[in-house]
Amino acid sequence: MSNNIVVAIDGYSSCGKSTLAKALAKKLHFIYVDSGAMYRAVTLYFLRNNIDLNNHQQIVDALAHIHLNFHSRDYETHITLNDEEVSDEIRLMPVSENVSTVSAIHEVRVEMVKQQQRMGKSKNIVMDGRDIGTAVFPNASVKIFMTADPYVRAERRYKELVVKNPDISLEEVFENLAHRDYQDTTRKESPLVRAKDAIILDNTNLTPDEQLAFALAKVNQD
Ligand code: C5P
Repeated sequence: MSNNIVVAIDGYSSCGKSTLAKALAKKLHFIYVDSGAMYRAVTLYFLRNNIDLNNHQQIVDALAHIHLNFHSRDYETHITLNDEEVSDEIRLMPVSENVSTVSAIHEVRVEMVKQQQRMGKSKNIVMDGRDIGTAVFPNASVKIFMTADPYVRAERRYKELVVKNPDISLEEVFENLAHRDYQDTTRKESPLVRAKDAIILDNTNLTPDEQLAFALAKVNQD
């Protein structure tokens, strides 16, 4: 029996999960794991290698060739795909537009969940994603389900993305978030849903400091 602490943060796209998860991990001296980055890196590999998403064998073979690693510096996500740093490329539109299709594939989820569970086996971690409190760590010590107004979310994400990609539009970002939320909540396998014992955190009108205080209070209650 291990008695390490796992904080599971789930919720819709771009509602500040990673901002909260990073801040919590920093405060608590836990390890932060961005599970979405893993699905994004797999998607990048599939795109680069033209993997046919309807071909079971191609998917299984591709997954066997994918090696992901996190290198945490200042609680920012640095992820390598077969030793190549891909942290920036996985945030670009081609990956964002395909990641929800790739993450709905059974074989992909089985492999990612296995790796995520291994990471939380013996260490104190904060992990954010869509199925962390429901499928990956159903016994997590603390579960937070995040939500925020869709327009507020799109504006926040747009401001982040436009710095690196000046051609992007707010409408494009809004559409992408809405589309991913739809796919993530309606997929057959581990859809995005609030775990019964997860606390809801709506941060539409909260600052990052306020949401951190809210979450810390819940963690310390436990
Ligand atoms: O968290 P982020 O928005 O980067 O995640 C990208 C996508 O990865 C999500 O839209 C979802 O399709 C998928 N994902 C998932 N399960 C997770 C984390 C992410 O299906 N635990």
